Parts: sequence; C-alpha cells; structure tokens
Amino acid sequence: MRALISVYYKEGVEELAKVLQELGYEIVSSSSTAKYLTERGLKVKEIEQITNFPEIFGGRVKTLHPFIHGGILMRDWVEEDKRQAKELGIEPIDVVVVNLYPFEEKLREGLEERELMEFVDIGGPALIRASAKNFYRVLVVCDPADYRWVAQKLREKSLTLEDRKYLAVKAFSLTAYYDALISNALANLFGISEMFSQMAIPLKLVKGLRYGENPHQKGWLFSNPLESLGIANSEVLQGKDMSFNNYLDADSALKLVFQFEKPACVIVKHNNPCGTALGESPSEAFLKAKEADPESAFGGIVAFNCKVDEECAKLLTEMFLEVVVAPEYEPKALEILSTKKNLRVIRSLGFSYYWDIKKVSGGYLLQEEDTIDWEKWEVVSKRAPTEREVKDLEFAFKVCKFAKSNAVVLAKNGQTLGIGTGNTSRVDSLRCAIAKAKRFGFDLRGAVMASEAFLPFRDSVDICAQEGITAIVQPGGSIRDKEVISACDEHGIALIFTGTRHFRH
Ligand code: 5GP
Repeated sequence: MRALISVYYKEGVEELAKVLQELGYEIVSSSSTAKYLTERGLKVKEIEQITNFPEIFGGRVKTLHPFIHGGILMRDWVEEDKRQAKELGIEPIDVVVVNLYPFEEKLREGLEERELMEFVDIGGPALIRASAKNFYRVLVVCDPADYRWVAQKLREKSLTLEDRKYLAVKAFSLTAYYDALISNALANLFGISEMFSQMAIPLKLVKGLRYGENPHQKGWLFSNPLESLGIANSEVLQGKDMSFNNYLDADSALKLVFQFEKPACVIVKHNNPCGTALGESPSEAFLKAKEADPESAFGGIVAFNCKVDEECAKLLTEMFLEVVVAPEYEPKALEILSTKKNLRVIRSLGFSYYWDIKKVSGGYLLQEEDTIDWEKWEVVSKRAPTEREVKDLEFAFKVCKFAKSNAVVLAKNGQTLGIGTGNTSRVDSLRCAIAKAKRFGFDLRGAVMASEAFLPFRDSVDICAQEGITAIVQPGGSIRDKEVISACDEHGIALIFTGTRHFRH
C-alpha cells in the first residue's frame, strides 16, 4: 500500500502521515514535503526514487510521471491494467494527499506576472484530478480540514466508498475553483473582457446563513476572491448574524450611497431605497433620509458614504433599524451603537464591480455594469432647468436607478420626498410617490421628478404640473416624446433626456 503526500502547506500533515505509516502505507513525497516529514520522524521515499527521474525546472515537473499517474489511475478491477502495471513495474498508489500552490494568496499579495505564474500549480491539480477520477480505489485528501476525520476513519477501518466519493467531489470542486480563479485573474491582468463560450467564476464560501430569503430555505454567502470590496467582503462589527435579505438590502444601500460625493445616507427596505438624502454631516443626511418616509424607515437598512460620528450614532439608536453600513465609525460612535445589541453594524469601504449575474431557470444572465452616461444628458424643453434643479435632477436620477422598475423619484434640495417603485405602470409609480410625499407633509412645489425609463404618455407630466413639480428627467425615446415635450413646455416644466435607460428588474 502506498500513499503519496505532496503539500504546499505542511502543517498538521504529519498526523495523517503517522496514521498511514502505522497502517502499513509506504509514504512517497515530493522533495520539501519529504524533508518536512523525515524531520518529524517519518520514513519517506522521495518521488525521484520511484520515477528514477529528478525534479526539474525548479520543481515545475515533479510528480508528472507515468510511475506516479499510472499508480493512481490503474484500475484494480481491470485485468489488463493489472497486467500492464506489473509488466512496467508500476505500483499502485492508494492514498493521495495534496494541497496546491497558493495562487490566491500570491495574487492578493500583488506578485508581478512572471512570479505569479510560478504559483500556478500543475502537478498538484493533476494528482488531485487523477485520484478523484479513480475514487473507487483511491482516497484523495486535498483540504487540511479533512486530515483528522480521515485519519480517524482509516484507523478505525470505517472509511467507506461514500467517503471517497465525497472527497472526490470536493477535490473536483477545488480544482474547478482553482482554474476559475486563474482564468479570471489572468483575464483581469491581461485586460481581456471577452465572454468565452465556456466560463467559470470562482465562488468562495464565506459562511452558511441562518436561512435564505425565507426561514424554510437554506442560504449561503459566497465571495468572489477577485473582488476585495463589496458587501460580501465587509466586516461585521457587531449585532445579530447578517441574514440573506440583510446582505441583499445592505448591498443595494451601499452601491447607491457610494454614488454621492457629499455626505449621504440611504435607507433601504426590501431592496428599494425608501429615503435618500445628502447633508453637511451624516446626522443631517440621516435625518433627511428618515424624514422622507419615516414609516418605511422603521426596520430599515441604513448606509452612509462617510464616517459615522457620535451625534449620528445617537440618532441611529433612537429607532429600530436592522443594519447600519458605513466605511468608518468613530470609536465613540461604536460604543453608542453597541448599546443596541441586535443592531448589525457593518464596515464596508465601498463596492467593486464584477459581472452582474442573475439566475434564471436553466442558466444565468450576465451583464455589464449599469452606468449613467452624463454626456448624453440633454435639455429638450424650452425652459432650461436652474442650477438647483439640475443638482436635484442628478440626485433623483441616481436614486431612481437603484429602485425597482417602474420607478419614479421626487426630490428637492438633496432629499427624496417620495419614491414609487416596482409598479407595473409608470404613472402608478408617480401616483405612489406623490401619495407618499403628501402623507408625510411635503409640499411638492419646486420639486423635481426622475423616471428611470421613458414616459410613454403625457399623463405623468400633467400630474407633475398639478403638484407644482418644475423639472423632470427621463431617458426619452418614446414614440410620443414630442407630446411629452410639448406638455412640459405648456406647463413651463424643464425636461432633460438622459439618452440611457436604467431598468432594474
Ligand atoms: P514540495 O513542497 O513537497 O516540494 O511540493 C509540494 C507542492 O508541489 C504541492 O503544492 C503540489 O501540489 C505541487 N506539485 C506536485 N507535483 C508537481 C509537479 O509535477 N509540478 C508542479 N508544478 N507542482 C507539483
């Protein structure tokens, strides 16, 4: 019986090796693994003694040899395999313990290209894949977390075919992940953004969640190791465990709040902003965002693009909130927030952008980032918007882009006054937004309106005029654009076409 051990991270492998040796396995290892095990009192044969071939090219070729791969892939239930192995002097290998060159860590360290390429493990994945393919006979261990239980089961002679199948599946997911990471990392490094006909994106488990969108659904959080920012990489500083929905909502809040330069606050409920505001301080932004819809803000997810100070922390503890996300907190602010034991406080420095991926049955939809093309903005009405109106139109349009279609946002002085989201008709979204604004006592005279897709009829313009709204921003592109423009001109409303639509489904 033979066990091949070739590991980059050697810590703890001696425990498993000792058990294997006690059980009568001959240990075969690549050079530094052999050195490590010998120093710990194990009897080890070097790979070279089996292959009669030296490790070459700085270790690039160590185990890539028919005496090794033949020993792994040989089928003991095929007579011809056994005959050939005997004839060629290939001895079966029954256990393979490997962990790979740390490409991921080295990538993170920012190694230059040629150095990084040296950490692309070739022999390791080949060993893992060969052993996993031959799981009927071969046991493959590629995660140090499995050393202990595997050793125990080997000792107790209770290791089953089911265990070997489990370890084989785990092994193939490791090599798939490893190659997905390499291909995506190199695409980034070389500036290749093409969609190939076969693609893989690396997923790394961050943690299992208490449940999914609902309590009867299991849920997990994975990160993409190529993205260092974003909600999946954020730091949970205190509070209850982040739930599946908390992550979704915090993500939307984070992405929206980082669209602004001035101190800003976004309150999200069910993946839609219910209040967004700019301020001179985080406190002012929060109070304005809350005031925008105090009813919905209850139990909300609140995000800031600036440091949360003591004053703001006090305000945050005065109401029930689920999550607070910000890039920084004053120590005093953290102290105050800690009085709310359940409140989740998250540190996130911003978000990064990768592919936007949505799951559909049978596959995935992938798309590029949805960005606003400011160059395309054009005044199409007779009256041009004032400077103040332009600022509010830009503000409202950013918020609108992060709300579920059909979305309408009413805003004034860097504060949303009414947000209508997720309606199946645009004019209904407008009616909702107006109803909300009125319910919370806002006067819409002088406010602006943003719509993330074109206004198909003049009805929305007429309703805006009735309420005293003075400026509108929308993509344009409807067959009735002329009608919409002349309605604005009739009412003296300033109208901007953005030229780009921002549906969010
Ligand atoms: P050692 O530190 O024992 O010299 O080498 C262990 C590492 O080498 C493991 O991470 C294993 O995946 C890797 N490895 C094993 N065989 C080969 C090979 O033939 N080529 C390359 N590039 N890596 C190998």
